[in-house]
Parts: sequence; structure tokens; C-alpha cells
Amino acid sequence: MTPQFEHSTAEWQALDSAHFLHPFTDHQALAAKGARIITRADNIYLRDSEGHQILDAMSGLWCVNVGYGQRDLIDAATRQLETLPFYNAFFQTATPPAIALAHKLSQISPPGFEHVFFTGSGSEGNDTVVRLVRRYWDLMGQPQRHTLISRFNAYHGSTMAGASLGGMSDMHAQGGLPIPGIVHIDQPYQVQHGLPGESRDDFGRRAASWLEAKILEVGADQVAAFIGEPVQGAGGVIIPPETYWPEIQRICDRYGILLLSDEVICGFGRTGHWFGCERFGFRPDLITFAKGITSGYIPLGGVLVGERIAKVLIEQGGEFSHGYTYSGHPVACAVALANLALIEREGLVQRVHNDTGPYLASCFAALQDHSLVGDAETCGLMGALRLVRRKASGATAAEAFAPEQSVGMLCRGHCFANGLIMRAVGDRMIIAPPLVMTRAQIDEMMGLIRRCLDLSWADLQQRGWV
Ligand code: PMP
Repeated sequence: MTPQFEHSTAEWQALDSAHFLHPFTDHQALAAKGARIITRADNIYLRDSEGHQILDAMSGLWCVNVGYGQRDLIDAATRQLETLPFYNAFFQTATPPAIALAHKLSQISPPGFEHVFFTGSGSEGNDTVVRLVRRYWDLMGQPQRHTLISRFNAYHGSTMAGASLGGMSDMHAQGGLPIPGIVHIDQPYQVQHGLPGESRDDFGRRAASWLEAKILEVGADQVAAFIGEPVQGAGGVIIPPETYWPEIQRICDRYGILLLSDEVICGFGRTGHWFGCERFGFRPDLITFAKGITSGYIPLGGVLVGERIAKVLIEQGGEFSHGYTYSGHPVACAVALANLALIEREGLVQRVHNDTGPYLASCFAALQDHSLVGDAETCGLMGALRLVRRKASGATAAEAFAPEQSVGMLCRGHCFANGLIMRAVGDRMIIAPPLVMTRAQIDEMMGLIRRCLDLSWADLQQRGWV
């Protein structure tokens, strides 16, 4: 380590609690136990300051799609830092990496996406989406179309518009959100909203019908757009029924409202397709992206702008009064180009689609036999296990744990202590491992997952909770 990074774990923890306010963290609780200090990483493995190896089944924060330590990305960043570390795109100027990346994105995105607006993050991407949508309807002479419809338990970022589009009640409770003109419908989560005996397909259509009901409630001529993640990530990897998105598409088409896909997690191969909308068969007007575009090596986000909006914005819009210092940052764009080239060269999207995705699905299906697992589902290289107190049997549904038992956090603790990063969202244990993962590494991860489930089960038995 370089000299300024030489401290003991305890020293790092003390400095951390003294100065660093972490995202989404109870600082007093963290100070009491001390942060885990992550110092290095290679491929799918992290190392902490105590020298422990940890298998990162969350790809950092859903972003390190090509794994850690990829030389091509490191070299691309170094070369660009040496050549031109920064220049903006405000002054009728542009840099080669930003132009080349915009061109590349037009080639890999679904048909009808020829333009991109760059941002520094997914949250800024979704703020840009709100600006674009409202600008579009102004230019179309329908400024009253102001309302965006989103979903409860969605995650669309942490800025004022991002958090408002998101449907996280704890976020809304802090700071008077959502901002005006954003309303929510329920998520397509059958465990929560399904009816007894209802098929998955019927549930999907019924969940989509809540959009139509909300459009009619708001007033069809007042609604600007609907936004959703193809698979809700931070909400707990909620994979919708196959009938859901086609029905959402039909409803948006029927009322002429814009359809927006937040692909910050689902983009760049996560679902076994370049974009999640391709996996679920819908045609959005805007696609928000971030994370996997650079595999998280350096921040970059943006919005792919479909022809319907791009044409109006470019031909009738004049100046679009929106942008960020780092819109099209040359180093970030150079890393993104190297990252996309690597994904293509290694055939990672096809590998997830044809090989590792189906293999992970079969491994998760085999976990259904575990006493603690109510459901196990995957989509590409993302998956969720629902922990239950008692499994379903016959017509009797599975019995959930009480939320205050925080069984997900208990299980996560066992994972952390045993060299596995898995995330807990309520009673759902979720993974989104790097797309470079091999079958042998999936086996290794599954071994760790089973071990941590066993340890959790034994722990719960000891507490008398099962
Ligand atoms: N949208 C989705 C679907 C996300 O998962 C996230 C981040 N987890 C965001 C937006 C926000 O991205 P960022 O944290 O880069 O602002």
C-alpha cells in the first residue's frame, strides 16, 4: 500500500467514524462496531484490511460486471488521464471518448436509440429523465402532462427527483418527498399482492392493470410517463411475471404516455441481454443507465434517448437547459469503451444468457429444499431467496418471519463472517455477481450460500424462532 494508506484496521475505523458519513447508514450504530475496511480486489474476490478473502456476490453495488482488476479498463483510464483528463461538452466542444461512446451505445442499444445524454450517476440520469419528459410534453403543446407514475418499493436514486420516483417509504419520510407530480402504484410482487390460487400470469396482468387505474384516476391527459426497473433490484430482486411488461406496454401505448426503463442495474448484460427491456419484451422511450457501463471502475451514467423524444428535442427544442460538469467525462467514457469491448470480446452477455444464467437458475432451484428457503428465483445473473419460518405445504402458504426479527440481516451477518457478500432486503437475500463468473465459481458461491443458510437456521433454532 502507498504510505498514506498504511494504518491498522482499528486506526482506519476510528478515522472512518470520526469523519466519513456513509450513504444509507446509521452512523452511531456503525461507529459502535467499526466499518469493515476493504483494501483490494481481484476477479470476484475482495480482501479486507485483516487479509480475509470475501466472494463478492453483489458485484460491488450491482456494478462490477467484468470483475475486479481488468487490465484493459485500468490502461484505458491511465491513457486518457495522460492525454486529456477532462474537458467539458458545454462550450460547443466534445472529446473523442465521449463521441465514440455515444456512437457505440447507439450500436448496442435496442432499435430506435440513436442519442445519449451523459450524467455522472444513475440518480442524475433519472433527474435528467424527469427534465426530458416534461420538456418533451411542453414542446408537444401538452404542458399539463406533468405526472410521472412509478412504483412503491422501486429504487431510482437518491437525488430529490430520483428519491421521489423511487417508492421507498423511509426515503420519502425524510425531507418531504415525493416532489409534486410523481405518484406510485404497487409493485408486481405476488408474495405481497397475489390472491389465493391466482396464477403467475394472471397476477402479472392484474398488477399491470394498476397502471391503467392510476392513469384514469390522475386523468389520462395529465400523465406524462411511467417508469420502472425491468427487475426491481434494491427492492429485493422482484422479478415480474412474463405477462407484466407487455401489458404495461399496451397500456402506455393506449394512452400515448411515455414508457421509461431504468436499467441502472439491468443494463449491460445482467439479465442475459444487453438491456432488461429486451429480456422482458417492451420498447421504452428512454433508458436510464449507470453502474455496468464502466463496471463501476469510475462513475458514469446517462440516458439513452429514443427517437420519439430525440426528434422533438432536437428539431423543435432549441437549447435544453440541463447538464452536468461531468456529462461525457473523457476518462469515464474511455473506461466505458474498454469495458464494453471486453464484454463483447468475452461474449459475457451470451454467456449469461446461454450458460451461467441457466446454470445459476438450476442451482437456485436446488436450494428450494432448504428449510429456510420459501422461494428461490433468478433472472440472468441476479437472484433472490426468500427466507421463511415455515415452508408452504399443500394449500398452506409459507409462513413469514416477523419483520422486527430482521432475519435477513441475521443471515447477512453469517455471510459476512464466512467470506460471502450477499445483501438482505427484508427477508429476501439477494445476489448479482460479476458476469465473468464461471460455473466453478458459481459452485463455490452456492457452497457458501448453503453454509450460511445452515448457520442461520441453527442460529434461529437456538433463538427458538423456528
Ligand atoms: N436506478 C436504479 C435502478 C438503481 O439501482 C440505482 C442505484 N442502486 C440508481 C438508479 C441510482 O444510481 P446512483 O447510485 O448511481 O445514483
